Amino acid sequence: MKAHDGIYLDGAWRPALSGEVIDVVDPVDEQVIARVPAAGAEDVDAAVRAARAALPGWAPTAPAERAARLSALRDALAARKDEIAGTVTAELGAPLAFSQAVHAAVPIAVAGSYADLAARHAFEEKVGNSTVFHEPVGVVAAITPWNYPLHQVVAKVAPALAAGCTVVLKPAEDTPLVAQLFAEAVHDAGVPAGVFNLVTGLGPVAGQALAEHPGVDLVSFTGSTAVGRSIAATAGAAVKKVALELGGKSANVILRSADLAKAVNVGVANVMSNSGQTCSAWTRMLVHRDQYDEAVELARTAAAKYGDRIGPLVNAKQQARVRGYIEKGVAEGARLVAGGAEPPRERGYFVSPTVFADVTPEMTIAQEEIFGPVLSVLRYEDEEDALRIANGTVYGLAGAVWAGDEAEAVAFARRMDTGQVDINGGRFNPLAPFGGYKQSGVGRELGAHGLAEYLQTKSLQF
Ligand code: NAP
Ligand code: MG
Repeated sequence: MKAHDGIYLDGAWRPALSGEVIDVVDPVDEQVIARVPAAGAEDVDAAVRAARAALPGWAPTAPAERAARLSALRDALAARKDEIAGTVTAELGAPLAFSQAVHAAVPIAVAGSYADLAARHAFEEKVGNSTVFHEPVGVVAAITPWNYPLHQVVAKVAPALAAGCTVVLKPAEDTPLVAQLFAEAVHDAGVPAGVFNLVTGLGPVAGQALAEHPGVDLVSFTGSTAVGRSIAATAGAAVKKVALELGGKSANVILRSADLAKAVNVGVANVMSNSGQTCSAWTRMLVHRDQYDEAVELARTAAAKYGDRIGPLVNAKQQARVRGYIEKGVAEGARLVAGGAEPPRERGYFVSPTVFADVTPEMTIAQEEIFGPVLSVLRYEDEEDALRIANGTVYGLAGAVWAGDEAEAVAFARRMDTGQVDINGGRFNPLAPFGGYKQSGVGRELGAHGLAEYLQTKSLQF
């Protein structure tokens, strides 16, 4: 697989000072497919300096100029869409059709949305006797995970550039190749040197050095709660802005009036998609006791149909972690109705599509993010019980409500402690604010709300 042997620093690919490398592994056959630099603290320092030096030139550019660069970036990504899909399939293991439809197409749409927003956004407003300017926050550290490797990069870098910020990106060690393709696209889009910099590297080394760097004004992180907590603590001590997207345990609430078969089938598909490695996945299905047995049977059938069609997990560690959760579900008394901890293949980090019935709200598999193709089906007595269960975790990122009547679903959704709810299978909207209530995070990504994260206000009084 094609890879750059440097980091993208101040407009060019340069060797990393660290001399260390990361092996990129294909999770389907466990073979090393490429090597990229594992940047060290000195490399991160050089990248932050480049971003700082570029800020005075980039921050005051006209919004129309930034819109033009983002539009060119969208086009440069679109020109690489097949290469992007193939790369994500190679390093994440996602089936090619899914890589094309989601991993390549969604970030192209999001980049396009920020080209539009940069052109239309009111960076200046009148409030009484004041003129309020919306100015860039400064140098942004973007630290991203592997599960939607290009989407999560674009969801941070595009709004940061639209705002007039400069960026240092540290992508996940498992998926650095698509981040390199992104850097190529930024370069081809004519973004000035130093405005965007890429340091591939390990979290506890390059990631930590970046999050702690005094030259960074805002840290935008997506990943695990444990790392997010420590980044927030460091940023808080330095009085730095922070944005966190930390995952979830979202509820798919099927009210009695719903089309049960549709709600269950879409719900299972939602969990199995991307092999369950989706922070907003509806991993808890809540069904009324009178419909419970029928729903479990529908879910079992739906999961069985996936059989071999889902991709592997990203690495051996995630595979072991997910298998551990499945074993824990069995040990705590949940009933396995599909899949199980036994890997379906000898080679590759695969886990079978798994469904648990008789899951009660306090079980580990009903509380913790598993990040694999594992669905927990829970029983509720009445709507108040469903609401208690839906709101009964530390997370609040997404969710779904199904009902015969849309108003009934909306009324229930308004009582959920969560950042997004899909009503009767509503589609993903790349302009809608995405982010969590409670421990699912701080701040919002996508659309105008995502742009606002990278701006700070200055008020002039007349
Ligand atoms: P993670 O370690 O939190 O990874 C996220 C990003 O943070 C990666 O770029 C990672 O680098 C980096 N990082 C790790 N330690 C760091 C540190 N001390 N300082 C700064 N940056 C650091 O997540 P993971 O280990 O890949 O996944 C573990 C679990 O996190 C998953 O099972 C899932 O529950 C959750 N998760 C959630 C999301 C989400 O979308 N919210 C995404 C991924 C994972 P490396 O790549 O080198 O580790
Ligand atoms: Mg990690």
